[in-house]
Amino acid sequence: MTITNKLNLPAGLVKAVSTERHNAAMCLSATTLLQGVKQIILTDRYWEQLEDDAADRIWAIWGSAVHSLLENEGEHDFTEQEMSYKVGDITVTGRIDNFNMKSNIISDYKTASVNKIRFNDFSEWYTQGMIYAWLLSKNKFPVNKCRFIALLKDHSKTDAMRDHRYPQNPVYVYEFPVTAGNLFKTGNFIRSKVSEYQKYFLMADDEIPPCSPNERWERPSKYAVMKEGRKNAVKLFDDKKSAEERTAELGKGHFIEQRSGGSVKCQNYCLCCNFCNYYVKMLRGKTISNRLRHEDKT
Ligand code: SF4
Repeated sequence: MTITNKLNLPAGLVKAVSTERHNAAMCLSATTLLQGVKQIILTDRYWEQLEDDAADRIWAIWGSAVHSLLENEGEHDFTEQEMSYKVGDITVTGRIDNFNMKSNIISDYKTASVNKIRFNDFSEWYTQGMIYAWLLSKNKFPVNKCRFIALLKDHSKTDAMRDHRYPQNPVYVYEFPVTAGNLFKTGNFIRSKVSEYQKYFLMADDEIPPCSPNERWERPSKYAVMKEGRKNAVKLFDDKKSAEERTAELGKGHFIEQRSGGSVKCQNYCLCCNFCNYYVKMLRGKTISNRLRHEDKT
């Protein structure tokens, strides 16, 4: 992968955010298993042709910061330890930030936006933590709990004072217990993802099905009932009909604003998107509908 430097940032910074190929041959890491199979295969296939800019990767510097932070963890801990376990021909791996062998607690450090906390958007962290717990338990380390310690990059003290539902501190801890039942379900998830990966591994790019709506971070379109002179929506609806009914009830000065959804990851966070027929088709569809909208206006 080529890391460009459009802002002419210092070489040390560019080096800190540069990256190597994430998985060795026949290995899939815990964070890779969170991705759709199409993204996993295309990223690997086109690795040498992928490009990213250092400025867009700036939060990767957090990884180096965590590394030094972990050097000071306690005597019962192991830090940044790679665990692995074979599932068929594939080795599933996970580099665990910290595991305390006395309390049997996994700790993982993250950066996140305030919205992640506000929208309770923890499903990927949950799966990642459970894969770590599964790997540890397969290597004879029982796990009681997973903790994700998140540094909130965009936290505002002023907003915290104004709104009690806003995260009150710039650090947030998301944690959950690890149970035998959840470990069992995680084992099933891992096995099914590995077998899906093997099924599509040799297929042509366009024959691999797109990542699932969840894996694409798909957001549905919303219909906002708005009031003239007010910035925020009066109410958000999932369907147009309910929004129209509410607008009619509220009467004069109210109108509907459509907030388009879409696959957030494809549009903003998938480095292999230019090699993905699903994304290219989606982009083409958007260009055509924008053109039609433009022609309607003229
Ligand atoms: S562009 Fe979207 S569908 Fe295609 S590989 Fe990336 S995440 Fe998956």
